[in-house]
Amino acid sequence: MSIILSDKHTTLSFFKDEVAEFVQNRDWGKYHTPKNLIQALQIEASELSEIFLFKDYSLEQILDNSELLKDISDELADVFIYLISLINLFGIDLTETFSNKMKKNSAKYPIKEFNNGIYYKK
Ligand SMILES: [Mg+2]
Repeated sequence: MSIILSDKHTTLSFFKDEVAEFVQNRDWGKYHTPKNLIQALQIEASELSEIFLFKDYSLEQILDNSELLKDISDELADVFIYLISLINLFGIDLTETFSNKMKKNSAKYPIKEFNNGIYYKK
């Protein structure tokens, strides 16, 4: 029986453990220096960007094209996997970090300054 995972029922700890086990089982930890993982993250983000090179897909075009959406999803997963690898390497609690950063963002971009349809303040 295979288990179908979904965002709704999966914790961040699950992803962290899955990535750590994948790396450990292949003895790839020796290659996971901060520089290598940061570059790998950038490369995967570039692979996502490459899908859009010289193309200007609208959201509707993407959502109507299952093959394109699959390619985008795969690259997003690659980015996420390297992000999790970095979080594991640094021992970061992403939930705590996310929460603190969102508080900073809320203070930096107060709703009252951005609730009139203008996204960027001059
Ligand atoms: Mg990739």
